[in-house]
Amino acid sequence: MRVLVIEDEKRLAENVARSLRENTSSAVDIAFDGEEGLFLAESSPYDLIVLDLMLPKISGLDLLRKYRKNGHKTPVLVLSAREEKDSVVALLNAGADDYLAKPFDLGELLARAKALIRRGKGEHSPLITIEDLELDSVGRRVRRNGAHIVLTPMEYRVLEYLAHRPGAVVSKTELLEHLYDYNWEKFSNVIEVYISGLRRKIDEKSSVKLIRTFRGQGYSLQAEHSKERSRTPK
Ligand code: CA
Repeated sequence: MRVLVIEDEKRLAENVARSLRENTSSAVDIAFDGEEGLFLAESSPYDLIVLDLMLPKISGLDLLRKYRKNGHKTPVLVLSAREEKDSVVALLNAGADDYLAKPFDLGELLARAKALIRRGKGEHSPLITIEDLELDSVGRRVRRNGAHIVLTPMEYRVLEYLAHRPGAVVSKTELLEHLYDYNWEKFSNVIEVYISGLRRKIDEKSSVKLIRTFRGQGYSLQAEHSKERSRTPK
């Protein structure tokens, strides 16, 4: 997953970013003002945006209004020192998905961030099941046919991204854009390495293969026998 944090208080922004990187297996970009934040939000595909309200150049509320007006649907979690009722209503009307008043607990921010990322993918439960593969996105644990599988953090991130879109063919570029920050182009050769690691750990011992490669198109998490779905990548 890839998250954008827009917050001008540097230390808070960095704490939030570190906490998200460590606990949600997300790549995190930071913008320190509203202008840079809006630019990044509109130019990269994020899975969640954490947005402060009081920002230099463009306020959080104006940023959110513009972002939604331009049709972007990425979930937005707003951070604010203001607790007045009318600003909460204005935020929700402007398209915020959740709201956290400062000072907040990092644990609460993480729980809300994870729930919003899931909701943004249409998943309401933290447990994703594909055939006999189980992925627990809260505990970041993976099982196949009941047996625990140990993955590296990057293998887990690739698998989790594919698991959020079961049956869909996901291009290498899309994976890179969601798994890395804005330096993603540097990593373009590593996806194959993670895919082959996943294949070895998840598929080697099973007769039904789940990690699929579609030549020239990308990768997909789907059982080998579901041929019809594989022809209609979204
Ligand atoms: Ca601020």
